[in-house]
Amino acid sequence: MTEKGTYYALHLGGTYFRILRVLLGGERSYLDVQDVERHPIPSHLMNSTSEVLFNFLAFSLERFIEKEGDGSSSQGVKRELAFTFSFPVKHSSISSGVLIKWTKGFEISEMVGKDIAECLQVALNRRGLDMHVAVLVNDTVGALSLGYYHDPDTVVAVVFGTGSNACYLERTDAIIKSQGLLTTSGSMVVNMEWGNFWSSHLPRTSYDIDLDAESSNSNEMGFEKMLSGMYLGDIVRRVILRMSQESDIFGPSSSLLSEPYALRTNSVSAMHEDDTPELQEVTRILKDLGVSEVPLKVRKLVVKVCDVVTRRAGRLAAAGIAGILKKIGRDGSGGITSGRSRSEIQMQKRTVVAVEGGLYMNYSMFREYMDEALVEILGEEVSQYVVVKAMEDGSSIGSALLVASLQS
Ligand code: ADP
Ligand code: MG
Repeated sequence: MTEKGTYYALHLGGTYFRILRVLLGGERSYLDVQDVERHPIPSHLMNSTSEVLFNFLAFSLERFIEKEGDGSSSQGVKRELAFTFSFPVKHSSISSGVLIKWTKGFEISEMVGKDIAECLQVALNRRGLDMHVAVLVNDTVGALSLGYYHDPDTVVAVVFGTGSNACYLERTDAIIKSQGLLTTSGSMVVNMEWGNFWSSHLPRTSYDIDLDAESSNSNEMGFEKMLSGMYLGDIVRRVILRMSQESDIFGPSSSLLSEPYALRTNSVSAMHEDDTPELQEVTRILKDLGVSEVPLKVRKLVVKVCDVVTRRAGRLAAAGIAGILKKIGRDGSGGITSGRSRSEIQMQKRTVVAVEGGLYMNYSMFREYMDEALVEILGEEVSQYVVVKAMEDGSSIGSALLVASLQS
């Protein structure tokens, strides 16, 4: 790739939106992230209207650009923008696609079926911003692009943030849906939307069932609800709530504890990783939930609950990754769709899995459980060829790279 120039990316996640500017110097090694802004998505936007949501995004972009100063170097030049959109989309081209459904608590029903890139472009035009939405891309695909840019052995990208999803590089002839479609490389990226994976073999507890039933998208995103940042805190809360109802170890009942999503996943990791002898973080966080003066023994039990819930999440995450590796023959078995006989099994190739998202980046016990289970599933030998690489902001930076590569 010999792309050159300045590119912008806007990423709408589940909790945050990010805006960044990337400078590419025309050589593979030269990639400079010049400015990154990360803001929480104001919660009222999640159930507003498409106009309100996209006006807000356009306004934020405008402010971001104003910061560039006199803009002398870029005056009169149309800015090329990548829109990283972390929700299920049916694409009609690299720069267009309609929203299939909302996830992660978003509920703007009139948006479903609308072209996401067009909505953003219209909002940008309305503000008089000379920006062009050149690419609409899923966050996992953005992360895969950055992973591949740094290391061509990258064939899988996974996000563990507010939600969870994965994509991987598949042989075009193995994709039934794309029959007859040819690509020059012979391969294609598949956005799995694995958050919606479900199997009767996946054991669900009563906590999972209740969480799902009370969510805004019940019967959907079953896998995501067991392993992503939006939900882990609420699973832990439900377990503690049940314990407090069925025993008196937590003292008088707290109405806060009955409040959905009152316990966030970052509090779960703070409690889990509390290394003070008296578990002061646990005391503090329980107090915020209206539960005070619980004995150390009970606080230790709360840490155990965090551990069990996060261990399950990490192990499910590993199982998902191992499943992809198996599908593409990188699990040491030669591939389940390759049709090769055992004697033709190829040598295991070095395989890089790019991973990003706030849960993975900030919750070290989640990471450890995932890594541990991946080795357990793949075996020591095959694991040596599988490299899991953290990719901070990979989905946004990578999507800017996609814009650049389109223009070269
Ligand atoms: P988005 O999902 O909006 O793209 P991120 O990838 O940054 O944003 O993920 C944010 C989510 O990551 C938070 O909502 C939270 O669930 C989780 N998270 C962030 N920090 C921590 C932490 N310290 N411990 C556990 N989970 C965290
Ligand atoms: Mg994200």
